[in-house]
Amino acid sequence: MPKSKSLFETAKRVIPSGVTSPVRYYEPYPFFAKKASGSSIWDVDGNKYIDFCYGYGAMLLGHRREEVVSAVRRQLDVGTLYGTPTDLEVDLADLLRRAYPSMSKVRLVNTGSEATMTAIRLARGITKKKKIIKFEGCYHGAHESMLVKAGSGSAHNGISVSDGVPQDFTKNTIVVQYNNIEQLDEVISKNKDVAGVIVEPVLGNMGLILPQKNYLSEMRKLTKQHDIPLIFDEIITGFRMSLGGAQQYFGIKPDITTLGKSLSNGFVISAVGGRRDIMDQLAPGGKVYEASTFAGNPISVAAATASVKTMKKLQNKLYPKLEKYCGKLSKAIGEIAHDFKIPHQVNSISSMFQIFFTDVPVVDYATSKRSDTKKFHALFSHLLKKGIFIAPSQYETGFFSLAHTESDLSKTTSAYEYALKMVKS
Ligand SMILES: *Cc1c(COP(=O)(O)O)cnc(C)c1O
Repeated sequence: MPKSKSLFETAKRVIPSGVTSPVRYYEPYPFFAKKASGSSIWDVDGNKYIDFCYGYGAMLLGHRREEVVSAVRRQLDVGTLYGTPTDLEVDLADLLRRAYPSMSKVRLVNTGSEATMTAIRLARGITKKKKIIKFEGCYHGAHESMLVKAGSGSAHNGISVSDGVPQDFTKNTIVVQYNNIEQLDEVISKNKDVAGVIVEPVLGNMGLILPQKNYLSEMRKLTKQHDIPLIFDEIITGFRMSLGGAQQYFGIKPDITTLGKSLSNGFVISAVGGRRDIMDQLAPGGKVYEASTFAGNPISVAAATASVKTMKKLQNKLYPKLEKYCGKLSKAIGEIAHDFKIPHQVNSISSMFQIFFTDVPVVDYATSKRSDTKKFHALFSHLLKKGIFIAPSQYETGFFSLAHTESDLSKTTSAYEYALKMVKS
């Protein structure tokens, strides 16, 4: 890929590490994208790939979905930023409320990081408490209190994972093990200062990890008993697992929800919503501050509204199709790896899938870390050569979209067969 290679050399001179977000870098250099359409993405050297990275899960309807693109085009003709409310945002909030009955009120923000930062501030605001419980391996954005890893032994106080984030900013984050309800129970019972629990209902940022049976309902029961707001970070699972996200899929009602990624099929918008009494804490009516110049900008709102309407209209076709395709590919990957006698686990649910190279079931951070990441990188590189683009890291997830076709599915299966054979040798 001579053009990508040369662009990367230039990029490194003007952009730190040559990339605009860390996970986009991989050895020896990332491909530079030129255009995308449906399930395909092309690089600057003219190679075409079937996309499973999909903007890290944002493109649920596929690249350049007509309804979304034309809604944005229409909006471009009448204004891109007003700095005063619009009917568009009222319509969108109402659409969200209908799809997510746990969200009585919604505030629109730009990025997922802003949404979770606001959710956490709201939880602390309403409880007047300090500690936030998060789960090891869950990602909630790049703000101070969430850039933490677990402490050693039974100390659950979060340890900063980034220079520039002093311990003072992470000491109120408690990190516990995902899929371990006993530990959560113990930490909550011992600690009277817990303001909230934040979780990815299905973990999509440590590879793909599923909640064990009743784990989420037990978590809901525990937090309710102790009057602790439960935050579902549905930035990946929202609209992806069902129109009403993981909460509809599992039948659980969180107190606060964050949405992003698939919400707008490729534009900059996220949302935070929840119980009326919690949301009413937000300024100017309440005392929890949150603000942004670009929040609710009409371009992103138009894209989100068109996306939600399209997902709603197509839901009876969309979700069964995603589930069917993803189920087929996941099963095939497992069978191929089994035939080649490669130690592996395939985790999959609805439209998401990931393979791990380990013989232990992957149920949390520690077991995910047992995967052989060298093998994963080899898999990624061989798939890329065969025209399949998955996220370059073991600790990400593969995503299906409405745009994938039967032919994509068979090409992808063959590519995995080739790549796994290469990984084995
Ligand atoms: C992507 C992601 C975020 C952060 O969203 P940004 O828009 O990248 O700030 C937060 N939580 C989860 C679960 C995510 O997957």
